[in-house]
Amino acid sequence: MPARTAPPVTPLSRARRIVVKVGSALLVDAATGRLNRAWLETLVADIVRLRRQGKEVVLVSSGAIALGRRHIGLPRGPLRLEESQAAAAVGQIRLAHAYKELLEAEGVPVAQVLLTLEDSEQRRRYLNARATLTTLLACGAVPVINENDTVATAEIRYGDNDRLAARVAQMVSADCVVLLSDIDGLYTADPNKDPTARFIPLVRQITPDIEAMAGDSASEVGRGGMATKIIAARIAVAAGCHFCIAAGAPRHPVRRIEQGGRCTWFRPAATPVAARKQWIAGTLRPAGELRIDEGAVRALRSGKSLLPAGVTATSGRFERGDTVSVCTADGREVARGIVAYGDAEAARIIGRRSADIAALLGYTGRDELIHRDDLVLQ
Ligand code: GLU
Repeated sequence: MPARTAPPVTPLSRARRIVVKVGSALLVDAATGRLNRAWLETLVADIVRLRRQGKEVVLVSSGAIALGRRHIGLPRGPLRLEESQAAAAVGQIRLAHAYKELLEAEGVPVAQVLLTLEDSEQRRRYLNARATLTTLLACGAVPVINENDTVATAEIRYGDNDRLAARVAQMVSADCVVLLSDIDGLYTADPNKDPTARFIPLVRQITPDIEAMAGDSASEVGRGGMATKIIAARIAVAAGCHFCIAAGAPRHPVRRIEQGGRCTWFRPAATPVAARKQWIAGTLRPAGELRIDEGAVRALRSGKSLLPAGVTATSGRFERGDTVSVCTADGREVARGIVAYGDAEAARIIGRRSADIAALLGYTGRDELIHRDDLVLQ
C-alpha cells in the first residue's frame, strides 16, 4: 500500500481569519459575460470547508461590472464612468444573489458589504466599518465585500480589489489574505514577455528588487496588475498577515493552496506596527505631499517628529488630520503621517522655526507638522 503523506502545513492551514479575494476574470466567463457558476460552486465548497475547520472567512469579490454589463446591453470594450456605475448596480445584485444561494444552501449566512474609498481612508469611517465586519464575523456570517462601484467616481475609488482586500484584512486583523487571480504568483519578470522569468514561491521581505519585479507600477496601479498586488502585499504583511497570490482558475482554488499547490507566499512582518500606524502606512491616496531636506530625513529616521523647519515645499490640498506623504527633494517617499496643519497654514510655517508659529499664524499650534506618534517610515 502506498504510504500516506501528511498534508503540508501552509500558512492557510494555521490561519484563523482569512480574507479571500476573487477576481472578475474568474467569476465571469469572458465569452458569454455570464457567471462561472460551476467554478463558483467549487470555491464555495472550499469556503465551507475552511469554516468547518473553525476558521472565519471574509470574501472580497469583484465581478459586479463584468456581470452587469451584458444585462443592460452595454457594448464590449471600455465603459464610460456612468456606464460602469450602472453595470455595477445590475451586476452586484446578481453577484450577491449567487453567493447567497450557494452559501446559504450550506447553512452559512451571507452579508453584503459595499465599501467606498473613504471607508478605509477616513479613520472614523474605518473604525465604523471595522465594527460592522467584526460583528458579522462574530455572528457567524461570511461578509462578501466589493467596492460600491455604483457611486464610486474615477477620482474617489480603489479601482482594484487587491488593495481593498488588504485594507479589509487590516481592518478585521485577519492573519491570512489569499488573492485568487489569473496569474499563479510572482515571477522575476513578466513571464509573458520574458522566457527566462523565474517563479518565486516565497517572499520573506518586500524589497525594492521585489517591487521592480512587479513591473511598471505607474501603468498598472488601479488595474489590478502585479504592482497593485505588491502594494496590497505590503499593507497586509505590515499588519502581520500572511499573503498569497495564486491562480484562481482551477476548480477548488483555495483547497489547492491548502494542499501545497503552486503560489507565492509573502511572510508577515515579524513585528507588526501598532494598528493606528498600520492604518496610516496603508493609506491608498495621501491627500498631499511634504518635501523635506536631508536633515529632516535623518531626524525622522532617528525617530523624531517632523518640524516645519525641515520642510521645503508642500503640494496638494489637505486639512489638519489628513494623511500626507513625506518625500525627499527628489520625490522619494520616506514616510507617511497625519498632518497637524492644513495646506494653507503649512505653507506659511514651512522652513520656519516652531517658536515662530504663533507669530506667523496668529495662534499657538503644535510645534510639529507631523508628530512622531502620527508618523510611519516607509
Ligand atoms: N469592483 C469591481 C467590480 O466588482 C472590480 C475591481 C477589480 O477587478 O479589482 O466589478
